[in-house]
Amino acid sequence: MKILKFGGTSVGSAERIKHVAELINNDEKKIVVLSAVSGTTNALVELGNCANQKNKAKFEITLRTLREKYEVVISELFDDLAYQAQAEEYIENHFALIQSADTDNFTTKEERIFLAQGELMSTRLMHLYLRSLGVDAVLLPALEFMKTSDGEPDTDYIETEIEKVVNKFPNCKLFITQGYICMNEFDEIDNLKRGGSDYSASIIGAAIKADEIQIWTDIDGMHNNDPRIVDKTFPVHELSFEEAAELAYFGAKILHPASVLPAQKENIPVRLLNTMQPEKQGTLIRADVTHDKKITAIAAKDGIVAIKIRSSRMLLAYGFLRKVFEIFEKYRTPIDMITTSEVAISLTIDDTSNLSKILDEIDDFGNVESNENQTIICVVGRFLQDDANVAVKVLQILKDIPIRMISYGGSKYNISLLVHNDYKAKALQLLNDGLFFENAT
Ligand code: ASP
Ligand code: MG
Repeated sequence: MKILKFGGTSVGSAERIKHVAELINNDEKKIVVLSAVSGTTNALVELGNCANQKNKAKFEITLRTLREKYEVVISELFDDLAYQAQAEEYIENHFALIQSADTDNFTTKEERIFLAQGELMSTRLMHLYLRSLGVDAVLLPALEFMKTSDGEPDTDYIETEIEKVVNKFPNCKLFITQGYICMNEFDEIDNLKRGGSDYSASIIGAAIKADEIQIWTDIDGMHNNDPRIVDKTFPVHELSFEEAAELAYFGAKILHPASVLPAQKENIPVRLLNTMQPEKQGTLIRADVTHDKKITAIAAKDGIVAIKIRSSRMLLAYGFLRKVFEIFEKYRTPIDMITTSEVAISLTIDDTSNLSKILDEIDDFGNVESNENQTIICVVGRFLQDDANVAVKVLQILKDIPIRMISYGGSKYNISLLVHNDYKAKALQLLNDGLFFENAT
């Protein structure tokens, strides 16, 4: 069995939905995981905000605009009026549920119910469209098997439950299910956070021990650098799980960072493919990578805050780092990069929701300084210790860029550099030219 996940743009219009239906309609046994129609989750987030702010006027307009979008999709998707009416009825139920929300007593629980409607609608539409073509497909409700506990997937539960629902249909070759949505430990509707459909696909793939997990997007695989910013990027055809995880975590938008681990644990290859050019090779992520490239790709992550703590108490002391880290742990804020000297420590975070509280508490330890608008640039590859010249080369290429922090040796897969966001585009282009093109200046 394979898992095929299609993102929001891949199901972003009637034409795209038809195209995906064509791609999945063959004899291969598969579970298709769908995102919401593009723009839907953003609109649902907006609706939640309007409800929280009791902004009824904006709520109505946002809901109407979203509704109109679905009207167009439905009218273009189905020629047959009976199917159109059926689709209208399905979609009406979802919109009625949002419309009926009690905005005077709006809670995060309702907000998460809002957020779930996108994937529920896209899968309904795909399933109905397949039926209109006479294709047998089974709609698997993700809420019956996807479960998290304290934000982490409950893998035992998922494995047992998905097996149960799939086994109900021994002859079925094509299953459709929702990405992103799940139940939590309180039996409430929840989600795997923005972009979480990739994660769903990987969790499902791991749970059923799939042969392969395919992530279908609108680009021909993971590129060696950010194609939106840099000239002359190219798809990387093969990546190890470790390299893919580093790239996804450090900003390669094509893949949700958490989605590598479940596949890696079960050693299931992950293939990144392009819906618009299905014949292209894409990127294969797996354990036994055969290429011997030292540097595979570069990624960048914006919105980083650097925090420097200078303290003479750190000199020859032990336990100092632990005390600092405990503050980040208390506010559940992950640290990305860290460098130390004898009397100072610099680290970076990207979740700034508790920044002021963290800074307040760290203030007790010494002199604290923070800088916003930083970007982590991450050069990923396989660097052996005697390949130290990779680091030298990277620094040489960036000799005119002010570098705030450098992290090398943490793993053999990456060199991370922190620069101000103003230097990001220039640094990425310089690295692209210098590391991937021989005759580059
Ligand atoms: N629809 C969700 C989002 O927009 C999940 C996903 O697309 O992966 O974040
Ligand atoms: Mg995505």
